Amino acid sequence: MKNDKSLFKYTMDIKNEYIKKSPPLSKTLYDGKINVIHNALGTHHFISRVQGNKLKAKNEIRVASMFKSVPQDFLEMIVVHELAHFKEKEHNKAFYKLCEHMQASYHQVEFDLRLYLTHVDLYGKIKEWS
Ligand SMILES: [Zn+2]
Repeated sequence: MKNDKSLFKYTMDIKNEYIKKSPPLSKTLYDGKINVIHNALGTHHFISRVQGNKLKAKNEIRVASMFKSVPQDFLEMIVVHELAHFKEKEHNKAFYKLCEHMQASYHQVEFDLRLYLTHVDLYGKIKEWS
């Protein structure tokens, strides 16, 4: 998923397959301004929604640009996480159940992603992936 257009299509495909009856999604895009490393994982989102106009912001998903060049499992996990918030606002049991419904290996991938982000923080990105 190298650009916003393919990212949006990818997101819509997952949405239509698993959570068809959820609020509409207007846009999915990469955002170079999101600092993934310093957004605390677990308590906050890897993807932050747009600030400002609330109505607009509601249906937009922003993904940190670094996810252009990572294994697709990671990108899928990020998209699944944000889509799950369309139905569940909190990080509760129902939320994670929904995540696992969309991506069976969700918890493993989340764990792997944390490891990867720690690696990025200490040593930089893995060049072979870009
Ligand atoms: Zn979240």
